Amino acid sequence: MTLDSLSRDQLDAFLAEQQQAYADLQQAGLKLDITRGKPSSDQLDLSEGLLTTPVEAHVSGGVDVRNYGGGTGLTELREIFAELLGVPVGQLLAGNNASLSMMHDSIVFAMLHGVPGGSAPWKDGPVKFLAPAPGYDRHFAICEHLGIEMIPVEMREDGPDMEAVRAHVADPAVKGIWIVPTYSNPTGAVVSEQVAAELASLETAADDFRIYWDNAYAVHDLTEEHAKSADILGLCSAAGHPDRPLMFASTSKITLAGSGVSFLAGSPDNIAWYLSHTAIRTIGPDKVNQLRHAQFLGSAQGVLDLMARHREILAPKFDTVLRILSERLGPHEVATWTTPKGGYFVSLDVVDGTASRVVQLAKEAGISLTPAGASFPYGKDPRDRNIRIAPSFPPLQELTLAMEGLATCVLLAAAEKAASA
Ligand code: PLP
Repeated sequence: MTLDSLSRDQLDAFLAEQQQAYADLQQAGLKLDITRGKPSSDQLDLSEGLLTTPVEAHVSGGVDVRNYGGGTGLTELREIFAELLGVPVGQLLAGNNASLSMMHDSIVFAMLHGVPGGSAPWKDGPVKFLAPAPGYDRHFAICEHLGIEMIPVEMREDGPDMEAVRAHVADPAVKGIWIVPTYSNPTGAVVSEQVAAELASLETAADDFRIYWDNAYAVHDLTEEHAKSADILGLCSAAGHPDRPLMFASTSKITLAGSGVSFLAGSPDNIAWYLSHTAIRTIGPDKVNQLRHAQFLGSAQGVLDLMARHREILAPKFDTVLRILSERLGPHEVATWTTPKGGYFVSLDVVDGTASRVVQLAKEAGISLTPAGASFPYGKDPRDRNIRIAPSFPPLQELTLAMEGLATCVLLAAAEKAASA
């Protein structure tokens, strides 16, 4: 029964029922956390071999992996990920842990020194980025930290709202856009070929406009189907903008999130540019960890086989989240949510104006949720309705309890709002 269809008395009764359910929830004394999209320890155990198999250190491309040097990263590992990411090996760098640091650094280098095709360091003028929202909070944190103004644009099922994008890039201060092309954080959207092609051929007032193509979940399918990412490097080259895209990826959610390898792909000029700046900050990446990864993963197929084992752990958790949302919230039409085919999140939209209340209620019942608004630039969700659910980390039983509790909070907040209208 939807809340709109209830009489005043029925609504009061419904509210009282939700208040009782919430009081029971508080009594349960839970201590649960569904905030961050971290792999569970079961998932980390899949890569135990990285810690237990001895590394056969050797000279690769003229560099002893144990020594300084080899700024581009280990060829063996780059070959595996070049195949998975659909980029030429020569245009792919392997770095240290955390692709986020490559994103951060590439923007800092642009701010301080400018980029190929640009005429000045970005810091010399106002800098704005387009921020498809809901999106990844840490992308937004980089912008905020560096004083880059973010312009939210709506993230849709096939990518950002391109009409809004086209309007904004007429401003020469707009230098970049964040894109998570495959299984976006948090909605699980996949950027279509058409949207990718439009981004590649976009007429921008800034001649040094960049697409930050963060392909963090490129091989992170939750079903047997694989959503192939658009070939953004190829599309941009074909459109006459070879330097426009910078692609990022990592093994954080393939092997060990705390000890992985990051990747950056781009045009030959972008790669030379990035290396010229990183050469000042490091004498080379951790090639022993890269070698360990190459030996452990073996091949692109080895990565896909490992991802199938992640899927066996993750898919039942996502199924549980979706089942509880549908059973508990579906009949009342108080929320909508995404059904991702990959990635790490479910994006839940509750009744407008109640997301902060839901998060507060959950907190007071011992369930930690990502702060309302976290998936929006500056933490401001204009409709106060979005909540990001991260099913990966808790064991299934805890996740089930947390989701049942979350559903109770969503219903109570919706009932409170309806009753006060
Ligand atoms: N990009 C996206 C879209 C993410 O969701 C995450 C982690 O949640 C990252 C990047 C972090 O990647 P890394 O561990 O390689 O820094």
